[in-house]
Amino acid sequence: MPTTTFKYFPDFAKEAAFDAKGCAFCSRVPALDGAWLQFDDDYDDPPPVCIDDLLADKARVDIPRRLQQRLALAVHARHADWEEQRVATYVATHTAELAHTPPVPWIQENEWPICAEDYAIYMGQLTRNKLTERHGSSRAAKASLRTIMRTLRPMWEVDKAKHLEAWWDALGDFLCIYSFRCDEGTEVVVLQTM
Ligand SMILES: [Zn+2]
Repeated sequence: MPTTTFKYFPDFAKEAAFDAKGCAFCSRVPALDGAWLQFDDDYDDPPPVCIDDLLADKARVDIPRRLQQRLALAVHARHADWEEQRVATYVATHTAELAHTPPVPWIQENEWPICAEDYAIYMGQLTRNKLTERHGSSRAAKASLRTIMRTLRPMWEVDKAKHLEAWWDALGDFLCIYSFRCDEGTEVVVLQTM
């Protein structure tokens, strides 16, 4: 495993989606699954890319324009005295770094959360095991899942025990919860259904 570290994805060696095949550019293993990457050439089936070639910009993650605009607004809000150009450079630098960070396997629109004045740090998926570890029992873990879902998807049915059970069973399968950390330690979670 490469020894590179990623500010936005410190635990990538454990949490990133690796492909069993070697890198399309240098055949090195492990390589990242290309499904969430963008290439200069068009591929029907995006090939795997190793960490070094991701860093060398052979492929990159597409960071949506509106996400970059959101970051620019956040920076403006905290640095009212910064010139337009300084904000633009700041956003471009941080976005380039995020674009060359192993992608999180999801986020249809790659809606990476923003904290304060930077992209948040991705900590990994909240699985049933992780929630149980964190809360001490599966009962408490399920209650925390209910809280997350009530907060993020208030219209979804989670109150009845059988509904909560069904969501619990789906967690890590077609229900994915991704955990991010802000610099000051706050957790931000993003929920996706496949
Ligand atoms: Zn490579």
